[in-house]
Amino acid sequence: MKRIGIFGSTGSIGRSTLDVLARHPARYRVEVLVAHGRVEALFEQVRQFRPAVVGLVDVKRRDELLSRLEELPAAERPELVVGQEAVDGLAGSEALDVVVAAIVGTAGLQSTWNALHAGKRVLLANKESLVAAGELMMDVARRSGAELLPVDSEHNAIFQCLPAAPGDRCTDPAEVESIVLTASGGPFRDWPADRFSFITPEQACAHPNWSMGRKISVDSATMMNKGLEVIEAARLFRIDADRIEVVVHPESVIHSMVRFVDGSVLAELGEPDMRTPIAHALAWPERVASGVRPLDFHALNGLHFERPDFARFPALRLAFDALRAGGAAPLVINAANEVAVAAFLEGRLSFPGIAAATEATLDAMTAAGRTAAPGSIDAVLTLDAEVRSWTADWCRSAKLTAGG
Ligand code: NAD
Ligand code: MG
Repeated sequence: MKRIGIFGSTGSIGRSTLDVLARHPARYRVEVLVAHGRVEALFEQVRQFRPAVVGLVDVKRRDELLSRLEELPAAERPELVVGQEAVDGLAGSEALDVVVAAIVGTAGLQSTWNALHAGKRVLLANKESLVAAGELMMDVARRSGAELLPVDSEHNAIFQCLPAAPGDRCTDPAEVESIVLTASGGPFRDWPADRFSFITPEQACAHPNWSMGRKISVDSATMMNKGLEVIEAARLFRIDADRIEVVVHPESVIHSMVRFVDGSVLAELGEPDMRTPIAHALAWPERVASGVRPLDFHALNGLHFERPDFARFPALRLAFDALRAGGAAPLVINAANEVAVAAFLEGRLSFPGIAAATEATLDAMTAAGRTAAPGSIDAVLTLDAEVRSWTADWCRSAKLTAGG
């Protein structure tokens, strides 16, 4: 029986994970559930899965959750842990074998780190933590013996096609020519650039193939998601930018590919449903059913491929630039993007403003000599906070200009 902790259980990945786990009660036990503040959704999960511990980040909602938990028979009531630091600490708990890192944004960095440090199997959805602190994360995993397995569909596909699990030798250039990340292109793939200024948050969050949280949906629309994934791939698979390709594939049936030196290309295909990569990483090296319906080849209307357009989607170019620049440049674009996306979702910044804010932040941090690689997680979090406040200021002045 594997004991599972889900960090970000009320989100899109968290709910998909619980859906897979519910199919295998004899194999997995949900031990810890963690969420930010959606008390009702969290309580329903507690009622269904009966974890031993439940973590709530938002201290203000503690009493609300407590009073719901009192509805349960005393013997079945979980321990309640409240506040960010205490909740993050649960990721290293002795009581867990597997940690699902499904918190959105840099908020997931500390718990991912704690789980890796404690040598867990970590199912990584939270790509932002690998972008901001990839070298440190890979390093601590190597030292502790943790298994860092990607849930991001592209990276999971690549993991399935490579000869070895993520880590040092999985993309040996004597065998692997390159990795090919597929991208849906998002909802604005065929929109002309002159309409981009009028894009609303609702339009940006309506992804054609995947149903996801709002932040990653906007990232998909700007293609920053693919940019973050390029950096995530570089860290996980120890491969440099020149051996990472991006191909737009609007059907999202091929989840990514690996090219080998003999001319073979291996791909993983399936329905666009995150339960497949989640089930794969949970059971690896075995397989379990995920509930995903089988891919129907006869219902497919062809598979299509296009080159990414770096002019309309400058965020993707920016991510390649940051990866090549190295040091803290990936951290800077990740933090700046997160602040800019939040401003866009709140109606304070235009859609093209997201990439503009990110680029302005990277330029400023580079000019100020603030892009040396941080040597510790504390240094990562300090720089992350500094970058966020710079970008927040930029977004405020952009708003003033736009408002005349
Ligand atoms: P979401 O917004 O649906 O859910 C986010 C979850 O994180 C929620 O449970 C929320 O309560 C929790 N959370 C937020 N702030 C927190 C904090 N400070 N401390 C603890 N928990 C906190 O997001 P999502 O779409 O599920 O994405 C989660 C992560 O997975 C992101 O990093 C995203 O890039 C990645 N990812 C998602 C998908 C997808 O299909 N949704 C695919 C690939 C990768
Ligand atoms: Mg992905």
